[in-house]
Amino acid sequence: MDFDDPLLGPLKRVIGVLKGGDRFLLMTHEDPDVDGLGSMLALGKSLTDLGKEVVLLIQKPLNPPLALLTGAERMLAVSKPGGVSETKRKFDAVLALDCAERERLGVCVDAWSGGGVTINIDHHETNTFFGQHNLVDANSSSTGELLYRLIKAGDFPLDFEIAENLFAAIQSDTGSFRFTNTTSRTMRIAADLMEYGVKPWEISRIILNGYGPVRLKLLALALARVEYFNEGRIGMMVLSKEMFDESGAHGSDSEGFVDYPRYVEGVELAVMISEKDENTYKFSIRSNAFVNVAELALRFGGGGHVKAAGFTSNGSLGTLKKDFLFEAGRLLNETPR
Ligand code: 5GP
Ligand code: MN
Repeated sequence: MDFDDPLLGPLKRVIGVLKGGDRFLLMTHEDPDVDGLGSMLALGKSLTDLGKEVVLLIQKPLNPPLALLTGAERMLAVSKPGGVSETKRKFDAVLALDCAERERLGVCVDAWSGGGVTINIDHHETNTFFGQHNLVDANSSSTGELLYRLIKAGDFPLDFEIAENLFAAIQSDTGSFRFTNTTSRTMRIAADLMEYGVKPWEISRIILNGYGPVRLKLLALALARVEYFNEGRIGMMVLSKEMFDESGAHGSDSEGFVDYPRYVEGVELAVMISEKDENTYKFSIRSNAFVNVAELALRFGGGGHVKAAGFTSNGSLGTLKKDFLFEAGRLLNETPR
């Protein structure tokens, strides 16, 4: 054990709350991803196996492939009958997983403030330490990685199903162990999870291959319109409402599309702009090299990691694009290489 580990204090405190309590409410950020959901499912099952009562709260029902995560059918959506009344019950602790700030809990935020100790477990650079207990580490590849350490340190149950969801969370946030957040510790944890029977290819089949043909229709429409700015240093993809309508795809079908403009030679910053509603656009930003996109997203009220961040803005697409390109261009020019 590393006694200088700054996480030791928060780990011990969170373990104490989880061991001492009986009823827990778990939630993640809006537009949830595999790291957030896999983390909820893994910790949820571990606590349930320990004899605790656990409610896994999401905002709305999931689409595939997220709905295919093992145990996803046990999640309760606020938008479903009974979902709201469930949030009014008393819990010993409420846990936010993979969520950088309180506001990103969306409609789950009422339940967060509804009583009980609040625990924030996350790995975002821009985390605001909004919990009473904060187990936050930007050096962890994923919330799944942090939860593996919590489960091991607390000697909580860990079986095949829990290992599968932790592996899915880590695999997803590391881009299948390719991104710079992948450390030797990440690899050791992944290897240990395989000892529980996890098969990486089986997880990939569910997470990466779990989409319908509409995903490719949407991709074809978007690829035809990729744009480049700042002498090819910025690559931009736009997903308009018309493209969603024409392809029949949902927002969750575009997971990973931002990688296409990203993997073009000379592109240092990639952005995907997705129309969510009339005059509401979600920006997904990725950095290939030296630009800190968490800082860029913060300028627009969002957040994230150094190499992957995002925000949502209201306004016309033309104005939002112009404002974004201005700030992104400035950051590209002012950051030393
Ligand atoms: P994605 O582009 O895949 O949606 O998100 C990339 C990263 O940025 C993720 O870690 C995600 O949590 C974070 N992120 C995306 N949008 C927002 C946002 O509006 N606010 C904050 N704080 N983080 C965001
Ligand atoms: Mn994450």
